[in-house]
Amino acid sequence: MRYARCIHRGASVRLADIDPSEHCGLSREEAADISRTLGDQLADLADLLFAAGKHGLLVVIQGRDTAGKDGIIRRLLGYVNAQSCRVVPFKVPTEPELQHDFLWRVHARVPGRGEIALFNRSHYEDVLVVRVHDLVPKAVWERRYDHINAFEDLLLDSDTIIVKLMLHISKDEQEERLLEREREIEKSWKLNIGDWKEREFWDAYTEAYEEVFRRCSTKRAPWFVIPSNHKWFRDVAALECIVSALEPHGAEWLEFLSDMGQTRRRELEAFRASLKHA
Ligand code: AMP
Ligand code: MG
Repeated sequence: MRYARCIHRGASVRLADIDPSEHCGLSREEAADISRTLGDQLADLADLLFAAGKHGLLVVIQGRDTAGKDGIIRRLLGYVNAQSCRVVPFKVPTEPELQHDFLWRVHARVPGRGEIALFNRSHYEDVLVVRVHDLVPKAVWERRYDHINAFEDLLLDSDTIIVKLMLHISKDEQEERLLEREREIEKSWKLNIGDWKEREFWDAYTEAYEEVFRRCSTKRAPWFVIPSNHKWFRDVAALECIVSALEPHGAEWLEFLSDMGQTRRRELEAFRASLKHA
């Protein structure tokens, strides 16, 4: 991976060691060109995924407030077929959701074969916000890392491709983005006192994210940290992760579809021949 930072299984990663302003020497224009190329690749691969119906794609998008979760989703939606793609936001669990295990509401929204689901927040909130704010006892959230790994294994074994992206911004950049929401009246609807309150827990979230990387970055479903202070770099890095995850399946999908095409043609020929001889 050239632009995103892939977290290898079991690695101890400190977020402080990953520069959120990283742009790998790209200018904004160069990044935009690469994004367009990757976007075209994504569009082609997403069409194949949909048509072949062999695999689903789950993109888990996590990040602090203002990290750009909505922004990257908007970008991705520009490339994928709306018929096969769903955006799933995860908010504070409702009463009925709280009456079930924490994965219940998540499992119901995972993509089927041929589908794409973009998770805006995810089951990881159950070891992030829940851990930071002691919403359940430690003995409960401690066990969730294993539950999450087992859950993701099940999805992977059921032909789901999983891409997990953490949009990484700096505390200064977050402040700037929050202040911008106050300055620009068109953005003020996004203002939320809660976002300022959560800033007080910055370090606790950092620790919680680092634990997620250490315990839930697996060989088949690693976490990627996306430097996101520059939105144009965030786009290129996130697109690269998704395209790289889909690409290895492209030839298989294409072959399946061309076999299917041949079969359909033969069926049609036989049908026409049967009409002639009738
Ligand atoms: P937003 O993404 O800004 O719309 O906010 C959604 C809010 O829901 C965030 O503050 C999340 O931390 C919160 N949230 C999401 N999942 C959970 C969860 N499992 N438990 C508690 N809060 C959650
Ligand atoms: Mg928010």
